[in-house]
Amino acid sequence: MVRMPVVTKLMLVVSIATIFVSGLQAEAKSKMQKKSFGKTEDGQPVDLYILTNKNGMESTITNYGGTVVSLIVPDRNGKRDDVVLGYDNLAGYATGKAYIGATVGRYANRIAHATFTLDGTTYTMAKNDGDNHLHGGFNKRVWTAKDVSSSAGQALELTYLSKDGEEGFPGNLPVKVVYTLTDQNELRIDYSATTDKDTILNLTNHAYFNLAGQGNGDILQQQVMIQADRFTPIDATSIPTGELRNVKGTPFDFTKTTAIGARIDQDDQQLKLGRGYDHNFVLNGDTMRALFLAAQAYDPHSGRLLEVFTTEPGIQLYTGNFLDGIHGKDGKVYNRRYAFCLETQHFPDSPNHPNFPSAELKPGQHFQSTTVYKFSTK
Ligand code: BGC
Repeated sequence: MVRMPVVTKLMLVVSIATIFVSGLQAEAKSKMQKKSFGKTEDGQPVDLYILTNKNGMESTITNYGGTVVSLIVPDRNGKRDDVVLGYDNLAGYATGKAYIGATVGRYANRIAHATFTLDGTTYTMAKNDGDNHLHGGFNKRVWTAKDVSSSAGQALELTYLSKDGEEGFPGNLPVKVVYTLTDQNELRIDYSATTDKDTILNLTNHAYFNLAGQGNGDILQQQVMIQADRFTPIDATSIPTGELRNVKGTPFDFTKTTAIGARIDQDDQQLKLGRGYDHNFVLNGDTMRALFLAAQAYDPHSGRLLEVFTTEPGIQLYTGNFLDGIHGKDGKVYNRRYAFCLETQHFPDSPNHPNFPSAELKPGQHFQSTTVYKFSTK
């Protein structure tokens, strides 16, 4: 037997223990964390899932509404801030009306007069936005969660079965949303669904971004670029008129990076109707596309850059015009224009506009859509 002095033996024990503990820590780090977020009013348990990557990015997602609760991103000096709005507790999400961070469906954005006709049958949904239907109720459902982490990153799969007739929509619709946080600092969202009857579907995520940190003032100095030569003008109820209007010479030209606030209060009829930007942009290029860089947003103060890639044909720029003093996370209050949304989507009211890309889904088809929110600094 090798004889060692007591001190050496002690050091050996300490180093073995250290290796063991740091191994455990590494294991804990690489595993998605789960915490209780309480129970819904009807007693269903809801959880928070914390996804991390190796660069200090962290995203908390709840299976209530398939909602992104927080997204922590370093700035150009490595200072970490939460760049999305949210609530501290489940009650905030259960009673909130602004779809903060949620998975939105069955039909993201508006359907005029809450009605559409498909294969000769007229369907009617709830009028929850004046005379129109807006966004639907996926954000108030409890989704089934599963850890599907892989070498691509920590990943959470959320599934929900929207039954035939739910909210007036035809077809049983099993929906899946997978959130993946990659080491390339991307929050990737993969949506998929099938149906057993002809139906319509338009899914998005309703994250409200403030790249200076949630609740830290308005977003008017943050800059946006959108790869869209056209947008869809709206009427007085925010329904597209059907026109695809060229952005050139209008405050809707974001083909070159421009501060959100540079033109938002101009005397422009479309800006007045939206009380700011609340419009769908027609993304350049193919409608049946691979991932495409749709938009960028940049905060000159923190240096945070957000790039939005999507397979969808449109994107809604909404500048938080209706935020009205919502009490959010960490005691922050969200006032008008304290955040912007870049909602990837099919165009609003597509079922009533044959000239828009179709949002129909038929039995045998497999709906698939991907959006990536990628962060860096400059
Ligand atoms: C709509 C806004 C609406 C907001 C919250 C956006 O997608 O375009 O008009 O106020 O969602 O529902």
